[in-house]
Amino acid sequence: MNETKVALITGASRGLGAAIAFRLARAGYDIWANYLSNHEEAKKVKTEINRIGRKCTLLPFDVSDEKSVNSIMDPMLEKCVPDVLVNNAGYNKDSLMMWMTKQDFESVVSVNLLGFFLVTKAVLLGMMKRRSGRIINISSTAGQSGLPGQVNYSAAKAGLIGATKSLAAEVCKKGVVVNAIAPGFIETEMTANLPVDKILKSIPAGRFGSPDEVAAIVEFLCSDEASYIVGQVIPVNGGLYM
Ligand code: NAP
Repeated sequence: MNETKVALITGASRGLGAAIAFRLARAGYDIWANYLSNHEEAKKVKTEINRIGRKCTLLPFDVSDEKSVNSIMDPMLEKCVPDVLVNNAGYNKDSLMMWMTKQDFESVVSVNLLGFFLVTKAVLLGMMKRRSGRIINISSTAGQSGLPGQVNYSAAKAGLIGATKSLAAEVCKKGVVVNAIAPGFIETEMTANLPVDKILKSIPAGRFGSPDEVAAIVEFLCSDEASYIVGQVIPVNGGLYM
């Protein structure tokens, strides 16, 4: 067991990842904050976590690049194995399948699904040896129900749900608990340019969710009270998909 609990959050420089980092910092975790390249936003996250009173280590790497993942994670893991991993880094490149290029398909599946595989693989053995750990994968309503223009993103997020269930079944007996969260429309940069008025008609709650409403579920899934929730997909979607 680490002296202070540590949470590794991918894609933590903005949006949901930053909100999750703040929540877990307030819950007493030191944060390892991964992101791709937005150093300015990442520094702001670190400053806020320090203000909360916790340590924050910034880890810029591309989750879909095996060499980058391992070159940054291996030295970190020699010091300690995180108690929590939140696979949150994500990316979308929407277009109708007719216009979607192979590159658009591959890049979205790589970040959202291969990224989960590479980062999880890096920490998994350490968690299993210690016989404790929580892994939370940020999927999407898009992985449960289809939307036009998201063949690549839906495939990746549905794949993440399948991977969550298989991994949960593999490692629960080793003390590692794996679950997924499927957010609907949440107010972040990813949804900033969507036609809000049109979308709101399809959301029974009549609004987009806030990043903190997703972060609250992550915090709960990390708690002792949630240890019997295994391999589940928790929707946070305002009734968009029931
Ligand atoms: P966002 O505001 O666009 O932030 C994306 C984050 O992921 C940033 O920290 C970004 O880093 C990082 N990132 C992107 N590509 C990366 C890569 N290859 N390697 C490492 N980090 C990478 O997105 P968000 O809305 O917070 O979404 C967070 C997660 O929730 C994603 O998995 C997304 O698919 C999922 N989700 C979002 C919504 C929604 O409505 N917002 C709904 C359902 C699911 P930089 O800042 O360095 O670019």
